[in-house]
Amino acid sequence: MTTAKTITPPKVTDKKMLIGGKWVDSVSGKTFETINPATGDTICRVAEGDRADMDLAVEAARRALESKPWATMSAAERGRVLYKLADLIEANLDELAALETLDNGKTISDSISLDLPGTVAVYRYYAGWADKIHGKTIPVNGPFTAHTRHEPVGVVGQIIPWNFPLEMQAWKWAPALACGCTVILKPAEQTPLTALRVAELAMEAGFPDGVVNVIPGYGPTAGAAIASHYGIDKVAFTGSTEVGKLIMKAAAETNLKRVTLELGGKSPNIIFADADIEAAARFAYDALFFNMGQCCCAGSRLFVEEPVYEQVMNIVTRRAKEQVIGDPFDQATTQGPQVSEEQFNTILGYIEAGRKEGARCVTGGSKLDRAGYFIEPTVFDNVTDDMTIARKEIFGPVLSVMKFSDVDEAIQRGNKTMYGLAAALWTRDINKANRVAAGLKAGTVWINCYDVVDPAVPFGGFKMSGMGRELGEYALTNYTEVKAVITALGR
Ligand code: ADP
Repeated sequence: MTTAKTITPPKVTDKKMLIGGKWVDSVSGKTFETINPATGDTICRVAEGDRADMDLAVEAARRALESKPWATMSAAERGRVLYKLADLIEANLDELAALETLDNGKTISDSISLDLPGTVAVYRYYAGWADKIHGKTIPVNGPFTAHTRHEPVGVVGQIIPWNFPLEMQAWKWAPALACGCTVILKPAEQTPLTALRVAELAMEAGFPDGVVNVIPGYGPTAGAAIASHYGIDKVAFTGSTEVGKLIMKAAAETNLKRVTLELGGKSPNIIFADADIEAAARFAYDALFFNMGQCCCAGSRLFVEEPVYEQVMNIVTRRAKEQVIGDPFDQATTQGPQVSEEQFNTILGYIEAGRKEGARCVTGGSKLDRAGYFIEPTVFDNVTDDMTIARKEIFGPVLSVMKFSDVDEAIQRGNKTMYGLAAALWTRDINKANRVAAGLKAGTVWINCYDVVDPAVPFGGFKMSGMGRELGEYALTNYTEVKAVITALGR
């Protein structure tokens, strides 16, 4: 790890948007502020995109898609440019980590040791795929031969959230570009800065003008302009279930653009009494509190088998009290601020609801008395499945702990949610592990681990956690259309 060196908050100037290889102001001339969540201060102003900017970006992306050099570039060359982008991100790792921490509030040690390496790994993984995406030859009846081509789906609009800005950009850009698409990214309004810097590096890496475009702005304007645009062939979205529904509706009402959605979660993390309790409880803490609880796959419902309940609660509570909360640029800090004032207030509202509905706040439960959006790590027990804090995706440092007494109950209550993004279970009994993993309705099930995410392994949701899978070979299907070509063999 390179976390020993001191990294200070960078000075940032106002930002433009990237359309067709040019850095431009918005058509309206409007800008918006991006805020440092550790202080509440403005970092800089950013060009604010809307429909008119989207029209220009779609035009540029369409032109790039259909003309040289991108349209005729070999797949191997596309891969080489993606590798170059990965190298450039790595070469600028400290700068990007600092920018991510400044804009998002995540600790600098996490930015350096997790977000940046995770981002680079995803670009490299898909760089390797670029020249291995191909169809099949299919034997058919009669004097014909058939083959399939996996062609780029076209101009892709991508809308990402603020919790892992760099990684979400990589999950969206890398497979799309490997497949030969052109992209228009709308970063979250809370965290536009690293997306713009990576776009600069992408131009340096050699992506032709118009292949990557970035339109910062708000959801109901710039984001909605992607979902409802006739010139966009596919939309990929990560964010809340409510907005996911709006995206799907807009896609249906315009051009039936292809839709993939990675949405919310309320993931069960189930600890059986026969598990390695020390490890399970330690990880149960991180499963929820990592990234200040701002993870779609956070293990926000912790189910503990009765005989080990007190033991697990003690470890989780001890860990909550050990946290160093404060300046995310301080290497000693383990918990930074929530991303925005809005999220901060929403989370405090959920804590209040937990108390009102009769859950017991075992530790935390308050904001910190300082500037910025800091909330104590908060653990509730005596939580019942119908309470607000057990049902809603809080997206903050609030853990609900519940008791259970047998395997069937664990599966049944684990599935008692509209979501199905992730789940985890802890046991030393392989039969129990397999039975519970099969019974849980979730896109990812972790056994005796949590938050293990790899570029090669698909990630996405059952039920209202979304549709489609990101990462791995599975993501390639999101960015290709299959064309069947049938040739007569001659008479
Ligand atoms: P959160 O509540 O965690 O911010 P959102 O789903 O609101 O999650 O935001 C995720 C992304 O979706 C952000 O980039 C945001 O700007 C965008 N977004 C929000 N509302 C809309 C909308 N109506 N149409 C398209 N994108 C939207």
